[in-house]
Amino acid sequence: MNRMLDVAGFAVSPDHYIDGRRVGSDEHFVLCSPIDQAVLGSVCEGNAQHVDAAISAAQRAFPAWSGLSAAERKPFLDRFADEIGRRADAFCLLESNDAGVLLSRMRHGVVPRAVQNIRWFAEHALRLQDRTLHTEQAEHRVRHDPAGVAVIITPWNAPLMLSTWKLGPALAAGNTCILKPPEWAPLTCSLLADAADAAGLPPGVFNVVQGSGANTGAKLVSDPRIARISFTGSVPTAKWIAQAAGANLVPCSLELGGKSPFIVLDDADLHNAAATAALMYRNAGQVCLAGTRLLVHQRIAEAFVAALRGTVEKLMIGDPRDEGTEVGPIIHPRQVERIEGFVSRALQGGAELLWGGQRHPFGAQYYQPTLLTNVAQASEIVQHEVFGPVLTLQTFASDDEAIALANGTDYGLGGVCYGETAHAAAVAERVRTGFIWVNSFGIRDLAAPFGGIKRSGIGREGGDWSFEFFCDVKDVILPK
Ligand code: NAD
Repeated sequence: MNRMLDVAGFAVSPDHYIDGRRVGSDEHFVLCSPIDQAVLGSVCEGNAQHVDAAISAAQRAFPAWSGLSAAERKPFLDRFADEIGRRADAFCLLESNDAGVLLSRMRHGVVPRAVQNIRWFAEHALRLQDRTLHTEQAEHRVRHDPAGVAVIITPWNAPLMLSTWKLGPALAAGNTCILKPPEWAPLTCSLLADAADAAGLPPGVFNVVQGSGANTGAKLVSDPRIARISFTGSVPTAKWIAQAAGANLVPCSLELGGKSPFIVLDDADLHNAAATAALMYRNAGQVCLAGTRLLVHQRIAEAFVAALRGTVEKLMIGDPRDEGTEVGPIIHPRQVERIEGFVSRALQGGAELLWGGQRHPFGAQYYQPTLLTNVAQASEIVQHEVFGPVLTLQTFASDDEAIALANGTDYGLGGVCYGETAHAAAVAERVRTGFIWVNSFGIRDLAAPFGGIKRSGIGREGGDWSFEFFCDVKDVILPK
């Protein structure tokens, strides 16, 4: 086996993991760190044979794995969670190095959550088996049967968190899985395979095929033998996947981008609202659910901007591995250029720059937290996801106007609304998104539904919603 990196005592493989074994490839792609462009190694590119081998292995493993009860699967998944926990330091360093995620965030947020994703869904699956409905005519034994081979495709901004968020329910429900990691940040998904292996998951139950989306990913989602596709990523890729899935009538769950509103009503606590708005620069703005469109009541806009400026000026930008860093790098040089293009076109279109607007002196892949105002609702910068540390500011004079601005894009992922609680909740009810936080941000619970509407996605993940997707729901009807 080709070993790429030794991290925190664990060797991280650049190979695929198929049928319980590491499998190499003739083709590779070079992986560079967004922190300093250092070459981290080269990772296998999956071809048609790898895709076929992974699907065949997952199909072979399916009868035995799906034949276990949720209670029998749980010890495997508990051990999987334990093995992820044992590799916590390695997961932290890897994703900090290949995706540029803050080490502190990995340590305190992402890795504990990854462990919880596996453990929680294994536990939750125990309660799914025996729902019975009693009607006048019959007893309906509603069963959740595993669907088959699930293909899981995740983006680079949160590979470990999102992969486990999908693997947890897919495996707990009795499916076998093939994970296609993001090519810009594939390392933690590779280490996941080692954790699964050490946990004794039977060969073929969990497979990892590395490679690019256009090549390996496209082959996986086009295969008629698969039963589910769970995808998180961008809208253009989702449209492509939906077409491939449609050709075989394979159900897909699509978690996509956002352009979420951050509404600040005139009765908001400005200090809290500004402190939360500054969090939108976290992960250098590469967060799908960030509230990137600041919509602020005109009466308080000046005071809000002053409060936000004070917080933003203190943000520590730099190496994500340093304890004090609050904003790290942009994932890829191409992504930096994309951000620059958005900002320069906005400025050419008449936008006013309140701060930022260029690369940060810390390094080539660092961009300053940026705020643009005087932006038209129809402009590109308001309508399209930048996926960088770039926010826009618009003002409004009434609740109706705030809601019209909030709802005036094709996206509908999340939102934030600050104001007196009843007032903010009433406004939040009228915003058309999959979820919205009132006087808060980022509260997530594994039992709650997560997902977007409009161009932000199809379907919901979390709790029962994940199982509804990964299972075939069957009604066994016994007449009375
Ligand atoms: P992307 O769509 O370019 O890639 C996502 C994944 O899809 C990668 O693994 C990629 O290799 C794969 N892929 C690309 N083309 C494919 C194809 N033809 N067939 C199969 N797979 C293919 O997205 P990205 O740039 O990696 O991620 C950023 C996007 O993800 C943003 O739009 C962001 O908002 C979104 N996102 C959404 C959520 C959410 O929960 N809604 C969470 C995180 C990120």
